[in-house]
Amino acid sequence: MIEIQNLYKSYGNLEVLKDVSFSIEQGDIFGIIGQSGAGKSTLLRCFNGLESFQKGEVVVDGKAISSLDKKQLSFVQKEMGMIFQNFNLLNRLNVYDNIALPLKFWKQDPNSQENKQRIENLLKLVGLEEKRHAYPRQLSGGQKQRVAIARALVLNPKILLCDEATSALDPQITRDILNLLLKINKEMNITIVVVTHQMEVIKQICNKVAFLKDGRVLSVGKPEELFVAP
Ligand code: ADP
Ligand code: ADP
Repeated sequence: MIEIQNLYKSYGNLEVLKDVSFSIEQGDIFGIIGQSGAGKSTLLRCFNGLESFQKGEVVVDGKAISSLDKKQLSFVQKEMGMIFQNFNLLNRLNVYDNIALPLKFWKQDPNSQENKQRIENLLKLVGLEEKRHAYPRQLSGGQKQRVAIARALVLNPKILLCDEATSALDPQITRDILNLLLKINKEMNITIVVVTHQMEVIKQICNKVAFLKDGRVLSVGKPEELFVAP
């Protein structure tokens, strides 16, 4: 589903990704773990073209990212929802309108029967039916991330990219959000990639994990293979 092939990326003289290769299969909850500065976030942003790279390739659903024009790339981006540590909600929009925002960006009618139903289903999925009229400032961190998740799913993506999505949340809320990601993976058949520095996140939901250090992949495997002492 996503193949990363000998990827190199630098900012000026700073080499951030060095010969990174692995593949993410459909249905995976794939973790990318490493310390701050390891290059995780940059790598994730290479998947959907938010960052460019100098060498190697990222192939998404058979399409080589570096060969796409702007329009083709935007269609790949549509297939990949993304959530962030800081939620990135629009403060002047309520919950419902935040979720509907990507529809407007894609010139879809948020008031069509189909899209209204879709937003209803997403509100239900993330458990925020009662909060539809609330504004982000009236929500807890966990609730904000639930809104962000619903928004990331509104265009029916195949893949959900999560950049330190639980790093700003306390442990119980983190577990709730991770359980929601598991449900999304199982019930909606969405491939999930999580970037994190938290081992607990990997242990709780990932079936595969890549360990990144100083821009290199040190190992790739099942979490139990990586973390159980020999
Ligand atoms: P991680 O997500 O693992 O914390 P990042 O991908 O955010 O790592 O960053 C990897 C390295 O690249 C860090 O040294 C960071 O300072 C650097 N970096 C990230 N973005 C930029 C940028 N836009 N310009 C220059 N350096 C950057
Ligand atoms: P995150 O919380 O995702 O790790 P970062 O602090 O790494 O975020 O980066 C925040 C933003 O700043 C990103 O757009 C990243 O590309 C940019 N950035 C990070 N490090 C640098 C740097 N050394 N020089 C310039 N921009 C950077």
